[in-house]
Amino acid sequence: MTPKIHRSSRAAGALVGSAVGDALGAPFEFGSPGQFTAHFPVPARGSKTEMCGGGSLGWEPGEFTDDTQMALMLAGSLVDRGGLEEADVFDRFRDWASANPPDIGNQTRAVLGSGRPWDVAATEHFARSGHAAGNGSLMRTTPAAIKFAPAGTAATMDAARRISALTHGDPSAGEGCAIFHELLRVALDGGDPLGAIPSALSLVADEHRERWATVLAPNWTPEQATESNGAVWPTLGQAVWALRTGRDFAEVLRLVIDLGGDTDTVACVAGGLAGAVYGMGGIPSRWASAVHGRVPGRGGRVWRLADLQQLAAALDSGVQQSYDPGVIPRIGPAEVLPGIWAGNLDGARYSDEDFAVISLCRLGEPFPHPVHRMAYIADNEYNADLDVMLADVLDDMKALRDEGHRILVHCHGGASRTGLVLRGYLVREEGMSVEAATAHVAARWPHLGLWNDSFTAALAGLADKND
Ligand SMILES: [Mg+2]
Repeated sequence: MTPKIHRSSRAAGALVGSAVGDALGAPFEFGSPGQFTAHFPVPARGSKTEMCGGGSLGWEPGEFTDDTQMALMLAGSLVDRGGLEEADVFDRFRDWASANPPDIGNQTRAVLGSGRPWDVAATEHFARSGHAAGNGSLMRTTPAAIKFAPAGTAATMDAARRISALTHGDPSAGEGCAIFHELLRVALDGGDPLGAIPSALSLVADEHRERWATVLAPNWTPEQATESNGAVWPTLGQAVWALRTGRDFAEVLRLVIDLGGDTDTVACVAGGLAGAVYGMGGIPSRWASAVHGRVPGRGGRVWRLADLQQLAAALDSGVQQSYDPGVIPRIGPAEVLPGIWAGNLDGARYSDEDFAVISLCRLGEPFPHPVHRMAYIADNEYNADLDVMLADVLDDMKALRDEGHRILVHCHGGASRTGLVLRGYLVREEGMSVEAATAHVAARWPHLGLWNDSFTAALAGLADKND
């Protein structure tokens, strides 16, 4: 656990993490176990990453599926209405279902296509079919878990049940969503969601408690599942098992996708939890940078990383902000180290598109460069996960250099964060001391800024590893 991570980073991590899991798992949906590791035995940090696309539905690399599409509709309703209005959420879901999305769960399609009103459609379907405990309401509930977390345990679990009931008449699914909401609430507060399982279970309806307690027990393993992971119990059970077993965000996702079956949804659920635990900086930037998609029936907008982060902030704090950095005088790009160039925001934005761009600040409008990694480092002392982020960026740079790419590192001003990464590269790849790396960069990049002491400390940590 990393308690110093800021809440806003955990909220963004939850929403982005769920979309990343969805997109990362989609190509492996309904596959056999072990496929992810068979395809990617080691981290793929070059221009082709684990965000490989494909699968039976032909997803683009990084494209999210119905899990995130539904989550975005739910999030949009919660933000626009300032809270939960079930009829509005249901209307948005129905518009989407009638726009022929590329994938949609059987039960969700049946309920949304029934033509019945929001408050009876799912109950009637459950009364007819009798089996309805799919994972389709759990997969989309992360935005609501972010939104209702500050209202406390009872309120967030209640919201979870009501939203689940819009499409899933079986209360088993609602109880699973309620548990998820409570675990995410604890994680956003900087607590340990695994430690919160017993208290969450005590708030589950009596007749459902035992079945949930079974799949969430510390000694439960995915082989013990009694249903496929299209059902809600093993979906949450596997996600929690992976969170318990994995040592970081990437490992949690690898573990769940390697289980096979409904990989996009289980990874989406696990990614929401793991993103809240490890924060935005714990999500590999090669995955977060690639995630994108549209919501059929809700306009042609393409959702990308920055949009998801903005939405998470609106859910978490009620603040709706769009970011426009304006036009700034261009600096760079200039080659500072062999094959590694530097610039400021607009120097990078208008650079040749064959640069592999490493962005360290917020961007406003997206860049056109096909190879583009976004790792948001704040130029202050509040990067609790700076070591993790810096290692992730430097590992990607090494892999992209090894592929022969020209790399362009930039931040807003091209001074402090850019300087951190350039110096870090020399410390890591050339074995230089921090002083030597700083002098080397300063002699070649007059814009270098050295005012951030936490950056200097992070570099000292890198240098220690050289010894
Ligand atoms: Mg899906």
